[in-house]
Amino acid sequence: MLAWRQTRDPYAVLVSEVMLQQTQVGRVLPFYARWMLRWPTLADLGAASRSDVIREWAGLGYNRRALALHRLALEVIQRFDGVLPGDPATLRTLPGIGPYTAAAVASFAFGQRVAAADTNVARVVARCELGVAGPRAVPPATLRLTVSAMLPATGARDHNLALMDLGAMVCLARGPRCDHCPVARLCEWRRAGSPLAENAPAAVPVRFERSGRFARGRIVDALRAHSAMTEPELAELLPGPHAERLDAYLAALERDGLIERAGGAWSLPGAQPV
Ligand code: SF4
Repeated sequence: MLAWRQTRDPYAVLVSEVMLQQTQVGRVLPFYARWMLRWPTLADLGAASRSDVIREWAGLGYNRRALALHRLALEVIQRFDGVLPGDPATLRTLPGIGPYTAAAVASFAFGQRVAAADTNVARVVARCELGVAGPRAVPPATLRLTVSAMLPATGARDHNLALMDLGAMVCLARGPRCDHCPVARLCEWRRAGSPLAENAPAAVPVRFERSGRFARGRIVDALRAHSAMTEPELAELLPGPHAERLDAYLAALERDGLIERAGGAWSLPGAQPV
């Protein structure tokens, strides 16, 4: 069983949920294990330096999540004496916590009766209950109401986890395994003959190496390895058109608090000797 499924520790659940945002389970597993060894409590994380937190996140992507977790730890220590709140509305006031993550922590750690609908759950509910190919085929409000209406009076945590697993392992986005599905007899989409969305425009993939995220990640990776670097040194790391946009990338990273400038060079926050 996944490590974060075996605990009700709100901090551990929160760390796993933030890592799982936009990242697959298999990739998160070693990062989660290392993180929890290094900073087993929210207080430990709050005492860490920002540059150490950014370094520990190396390889997981979307570095802003690391800083948001760190800011969250400091804010919980200041506002709530280090105790994570259990209700989704308060959780949503904390850095990096959106509606899904708030609901997931409230449900998985605190056992609250709230629907935690990630993309897997949304797909299962769209198909099984609403009879459409996927969540984009129905208004978000309809989906939200349907997911909430399905919550049982007791055992909401297990219900959420079961729907999540069904979406991750059986009701796959491409090639649902309906013959092995425990709710196949109840599924409206299957009953309707599994109609596909009409004329859905094919998404045009953007090559990762051409994206700004790639360039910003490269800059942060370089600063993980070097205490400080000048702009010409950083520009050399970036292929062609990215080097011309170096100023914009540095400004965005500085705005996010991921890097800082001192004495004509850039570094991770607090990483340069003063
Ligand atoms: Fe998904 Fe098929 Fe199960 Fe319906 S029967 S919920 S489409 S796997």
